[in-house]
Amino acid sequence: MPFDYNLAIIGAGSAGLTAARFATRLGKRVALIEANRVGGDCTWTGCVPSKALLHAARVAHTIRTGGTLGVRAGEPEVDFPAVMRRIRNVIEEIYAAESPDALRAEGIGVIEGRARFEDAHTVAVGDRSISAKYFLICTGASPFVPPIPGLSETPYLTYENFWRLESLPQRLIVIGGGPIGCELAQACQRLGSSVTLVEALDRILPNDEPEAARTVAEALRRDGVDLRFGAPVESVRSGEEGGITVSAGGEDVEGDGLLVAVGRRANVDGIGLEKAGIEHSRAGITVDDYLRTSVKNIYAAGDCVGGFQFTHYAGYQGAMAVRNMLLPGRSRARPEHPPWATFTDPEVAHSGYTEKQAREQFGGNVRVSTLPMESVDRAVTDDADEGFIKVVSRDNGTVLGATVVGRNAAEALQGWAIAGQHGLKMGDVARAMQAYPSLGTGNQQVAWDAYVDGLTRGFMGRLLRWLAR
Ligand SMILES: Cc1cc2nc3c(=O)[nH]c(=O)nc-3n(C[C@H](O)[C@H](O)[C@H](O)COP(=O)(O)OP(=O)(O)OC[C@H]3O[C@@H](n4cnc5c(N)ncnc54)[C@H](O)[C@@H]3O)c2cc1C
Repeated sequence: MPFDYNLAIIGAGSAGLTAARFATRLGKRVALIEANRVGGDCTWTGCVPSKALLHAARVAHTIRTGGTLGVRAGEPEVDFPAVMRRIRNVIEEIYAAESPDALRAEGIGVIEGRARFEDAHTVAVGDRSISAKYFLICTGASPFVPPIPGLSETPYLTYENFWRLESLPQRLIVIGGGPIGCELAQACQRLGSSVTLVEALDRILPNDEPEAARTVAEALRRDGVDLRFGAPVESVRSGEEGGITVSAGGEDVEGDGLLVAVGRRANVDGIGLEKAGIEHSRAGITVDDYLRTSVKNIYAAGDCVGGFQFTHYAGYQGAMAVRNMLLPGRSRARPEHPPWATFTDPEVAHSGYTEKQAREQFGGNVRVSTLPMESVDRAVTDDADEGFIKVVSRDNGTVLGATVVGRNAAEALQGWAIAGQHGLKMGDVARAMQAYPSLGTGNQQVAWDAYVDGLTRGFMGRLLRWLAR
């Protein structure tokens, strides 16, 4: 072979890891180049630590509110350094399966260092030159820090350095009401901080159904989070004794910690994209529907492409990029309606079309079926009856999308994600028996109501009633 490797992958996060494992199993010689820590954002600064933090926060909340169940414990004592130690242990546990040694044992050529293109078939890593027939760029994203006056002179946190905190700020200001801002705001509030969240829009979670966002906003407020909507940040300044003032929407918010959570930006700099002739913009590396860049032998996947930025989406794209470059034929790899979840309490999990998207695309041929969690027995037994299941379907019953708001909503979404992605109908979901009591039976309930409703309308309804007379 005229190259060192069949495939060299730049970046060992979700996209790069999935791609490396798949290509190796296809018998290819694979290099996986990582500048920082194998595992990427998800393992080190994203999903894993945030979910471990939220778990500790939920335990604190359960202790605090257990009296309503007849289990009184009082105000919990939160040992924040111990919470952070456990988070680091959780990360290490998950990292063990993807450490360079573990990957080398799987046959992947892990190379530690920053890669930079020299031409379309070569990258430099330190003083090494590595050539490959194909390249896959999986360089991820970084926190977007907006140009707010005063911010660069003020100490602030992002999701990257948050995990190095040794103590929780007493008063934390969070800028941004997206998933990261909401999750960390609720976690910090429940662990003892007084949190103010400022958001330029008039709502949080802008990509979710409005009623889902309202439910989470109510829950955050009940926990004590001060939510300020319609409050674009005008300036930030730090005072003498560590105090921070954020001016937003014409009002000043005082705090002693500041978290900037206004989005993430694709990593396109410092990779030598220009040298290889790879087109890109600030939004990400330009790819076609099959993840191929403007250079024939180079693909890109995951957060660095822009658009949806989720671990499962990045992993899926990593696998699909390998499929498209190495196997005959090709498959589209940029699904427009993937599932996602925000892990606040209650969680918001969504898959497929929102109601607005469905109406825009299918006009009047759309039905909406909703069931409040108060009608789902498991939610009631678990004192978690806040939320709902909302399903959007076509008139013929085909599932278009669903939102589940409630405890463990992301697990309950599974059924809808499968139904939507495989073109199933409400009747299929209604007839698939689930174990009681679970949120799965709630899914079945909403599907059954919609199914029977469809069956008993119009001529078919009259016919069925006649047959059953
Ligand atoms: C706080 C937070 C919570 C999140 N929670 C969730 C969640 O609950 N569920 C979910 O699905 N998603 C979540 N995400 C998003 C998820 O973490 C990302 O979508 C996912 O990590 C993207 O994977 P990736 O492989 O594209 O990039 P990354 O995981 O970022 O990996 C990119 C890798 O490339 C390396 N790299 C960059 N440049 C070079 C170079 N030149 N040479 C070599 N290596 C390089 C980087 O060091 C990095 O390791 C969360 C994100 C954050 C920040």
